[in-house]
Amino acid sequence: MDQVAQIRDKIDIVALITEYIPLKKTGRNFTACCPFHKEKTPSFVVSPERQIWHCFGGCNKGGDAFSFLMEFEKMDFPEALSILAKKAGVELVRSQFAQGASAHKEKLYELNHLSCEFYHYVLTNHAVGKKALGYLLKERRLTPSLIKTFMIGFSPRLGNPLSEYLVKKKSYQRQDIFDAGLATIKGGTLVDFFKGRVMFPLIDHRGNVVGFSGRVFEDGDRGPKYINTKDTLIYHKGSHFFGIHGAKEAIKKENRAIIVEGEFDVISCFKEGVGNAIAVKGTALTVEQIALLCRFAQKVSLCFDTDAAGQEAIKRSLLACEEKGMSVGVVAIPIGKDADEAIKKDPAGFKKAVKHDIPVYDFFFEKLLTHSDTDSVDSAEGKKKIASELIPLIAHISNAIVKEHYVRKLSKELATSYESIMQELDRMTKKDTSFLAPSLSKTKRAREEVLEEYLTALILQCPHPLELMEFVEWEDLVRHATQESAYQKITRFLKDFLSSGHAYQGALFARILPKELHSAFDTCFLFPLPSFVSEEAYRFEGKRTKEDLKTLYVKEAIALISARIKKEEKTGAVDEGLQKQMRELTSFLKK
Ligand code: ZN
Repeated sequence: MDQVAQIRDKIDIVALITEYIPLKKTGRNFTACCPFHKEKTPSFVVSPERQIWHCFGGCNKGGDAFSFLMEFEKMDFPEALSILAKKAGVELVRSQFAQGASAHKEKLYELNHLSCEFYHYVLTNHAVGKKALGYLLKERRLTPSLIKTFMIGFSPRLGNPLSEYLVKKKSYQRQDIFDAGLATIKGGTLVDFFKGRVMFPLIDHRGNVVGFSGRVFEDGDRGPKYINTKDTLIYHKGSHFFGIHGAKEAIKKENRAIIVEGEFDVISCFKEGVGNAIAVKGTALTVEQIALLCRFAQKVSLCFDTDAAGQEAIKRSLLACEEKGMSVGVVAIPIGKDADEAIKKDPAGFKKAVKHDIPVYDFFFEKLLTHSDTDSVDSAEGKKKIASELIPLIAHISNAIVKEHYVRKLSKELATSYESIMQELDRMTKKDTSFLAPSLSKTKRAREEVLEEYLTALILQCPHPLELMEFVEWEDLVRHATQESAYQKITRFLKDFLSSGHAYQGALFARILPKELHSAFDTCFLFPLPSFVSEEAYRFEGKRTKEDLKTLYVKEAIALISARIKKEEKTGAVDEGLQKQMRELTSFLKK
């Protein structure tokens, strides 16, 4: 047996998926709200019997354990394979898979990991790191244990010690070190990318070191305060958080992430027992970051700097959050310019602000209404100004009830009618629809296909498929079809399978189906039917669906025949048989 099959055999898909999202037992299957598109009613189905999953909601995705992991963790196949192999206790024959991009990724992870240890060693054990260590312990009031927890390090100012260590001691290729973003190549030699900086490793949610953020710490140090690893195969600006690996469990537990701006904010929060804080590593939350985060929690509390840039970042983060249906609060920092400072000055006050964060739209309402001078709320100009700030924000709200709440609130605060606010909102929505969440395009399928799928699902899921096929006169149905669809093929195979005396078991039956029918079979086998209590209900539904389907088939046949008749009329001789067929079909429709 090949290794993939061996792993697939050992992994239980229900147990695997439960690690990521809560599943609920529904009949023989398990269901959940789909993690791949926004929905309120569960249409994500997992079959323990078939070891597959499928979404019957908007996105229509589906597959096995591998594809789930690839989709959920945004991994490529070899990565998913190596994770599942570990879970299954299967030792992979390395050469078989360690090729191409994925092997290169592995190498970059290794290099970053080694560099992280190197920098940490320099900071904590080497004379070169002494000054930086003093800065962290005294000025930033970190403890040795915090330095270890966050694996903070120091990149030496002189020479290229990291590159030399990696090439000479660890025998890495120069190109790989360059590709990892750890060094540049100047005049044919490797030059360390980070020099004289306090190093914060960026560790992704799976525990891989993907890059670094380096901060200057001495007066007179040149260059920007922070520099980050350039985009590499494993690091993309705007898709990571600082601290996510350590905070992940706390975020899950509290169903909320506190988003702060910088590394020291995260560390201070952690020190004060706020374990679910992570840093955005940019100016505002991106859609990629929210996509990652919404696997762990449904809420974010934005705790950005109190300056104008921080406030602007809140607005810009909102868009991404609304798109993913994430609820958003704002932590109003009581004192100081950022979380780190607030914690140092008044830890209790900060924790209270975190606990009682303000719903983001209330935050903006309050800010605009209390900070504008009171006269202006009464003047037409003043009203217009406040409305022009708040209406674009309200327009982003994806939940209709929440949206209406704020429209009412605004109309009350401005003493304007509900309708005039709605009018403005409409005008704005028409003018700029780009902020509306892109509607997941549910591919419009032909009604015929929908009915075929439903009928096949009824047949496959009812207690006695063969009897149901007879009852709905399946033979009569397919006789009217102009071509054999995948669903018809499946039922034909099923009929042969059962007629030859086999007992019906989904997993067994699937094995005799040709590969190209597997996907359609799985869809029907998992299709979330209403829970019919009696066999009678299957019959009723089956018969009704069959009749509808037959009507569609007949209409299609009529269209085909009438086209042929028209063609033959041009040449003068119309086939008698065709006309007879036509009469029969139209008389069926009249019935
Ligand atoms: Zn879905």
